[in-house]
Amino acid sequence: MRWPRVADHGRAEASARHGTRQVRVGRVAIGGQAPVVVQSMTNTDTADVEATVRQVAELARAGSELVRVTVNTPEAAAAVPRIRERLDRMGSGVPLVGDFHYNGHQLLAAEPACAEALAKYRINPGNVGFGKKRDTQFAEIIAMALRHDKPVRIGANWGSLDQALLARLMDENHAREKPWDAAAVGREALIRSALDSAARAEELGMDRSRIVLSCKVSGVQELIAVYRDLAARSDYALHLGLTEAGMGSKGIVASAAALAVLLQEGIGDTIRISLTPAPGESRTREVIVAQELLQTMGLRAFTPLVTACPGCGRTTSSFFQELAQRVQGHVRERMPAWRQQYDGVENLTLAVMGCVVNGPGESRHAHIGISLPGTGEAPAAPVFIDGQKTVTLRGEGIADEFVAIIEDYVARRFAPRGA
Ligand code: SF4
Repeated sequence: MRWPRVADHGRAEASARHGTRQVRVGRVAIGGQAPVVVQSMTNTDTADVEATVRQVAELARAGSELVRVTVNTPEAAAAVPRIRERLDRMGSGVPLVGDFHYNGHQLLAAEPACAEALAKYRINPGNVGFGKKRDTQFAEIIAMALRHDKPVRIGANWGSLDQALLARLMDENHAREKPWDAAAVGREALIRSALDSAARAEELGMDRSRIVLSCKVSGVQELIAVYRDLAARSDYALHLGLTEAGMGSKGIVASAAALAVLLQEGIGDTIRISLTPAPGESRTREVIVAQELLQTMGLRAFTPLVTACPGCGRTTSSFFQELAQRVQGHVRERMPAWRQQYDGVENLTLAVMGCVVNGPGESRHAHIGISLPGTGEAPAAPVFIDGQKTVTLRGEGIADEFVAIIEDYVARRFAPRGA
């Protein structure tokens, strides 16, 4: 018997509790009861059309549903419509989000084709302008968004917090009978920066359902505290992410720890995992981590995941590790075609296990599982399909035969799309 899978109930209930407005960003819906959207950001020079198109397409192929690009110079702004056109010609309709700091009002005004090609504008209220210019430049960007009928993300960031606002809140805090600690004042400044800017955008004529908010910090507990507060105080759709999460496992663990807590509470409508890639590493890792986070939490399904044991003194060789890697690689590679062909194939579950201790049990819980022989076991690998032992594989061809079993199962088990 297969173990029952955890369904989406937790998220559905939590989502209803938080109840954000839904924002349309091109073909993508963020917020309300829409599934949590995965997004990413390029690290190419946007003025380099070739490199940016290549990376956006790669991110979209990996499953990024929105891709943000830096728009920092006139050359970058001029490149955006050409990037959009090239992507459209390639059949990649992924919406592009423009990331603006300091000069967004000028770039959008100077390049109407850029303003039109982008599906959303990201505005950082901490550096949209300084002093008296802040309000006028913010208003100019909102006016451009209204003219081109585009939603905005008002994205406050701890690293570029509005210092004037922070100083004002510090002064107010000193006057309190029981002053808050400095961290609480900082959190409040971040939240107020986002909420006050959103209120200003509404005064300028932007509908509430055209605004996404974010308040990013780089500490896990801080992020959780900020978003709990933000969610309690507004119904704007929320973009969730730990900023400057870092490299490798540290970035992944910190992002997953913070986002999992919030997502479980129904907070967060779109996520980005801000990983620093190792030199030469593909940018797509941040997309895969975001998908795996949502999938392992039972919130969405993207790609069949392989359950594999960690291995121990009972495993005789690295063969089971190689098989687990090959199976996961195979399903990732095949997924773009499977997704087109078969309905629900992303829910497929697979197990590759190292010995008899947990192997047959875990394999029975998956749609397809294989229990490889551990130390002292007969050199045979039973395969379980839908909880039943169906065949035992032996010899050199185990990997090829197991992959063939997966292909056969997918073709039989999942209905052709559109049937
Ligand atoms: S299933 Fe077997 S090989 Fe894998 S970790 Fe458990 S005891 Fe070790």
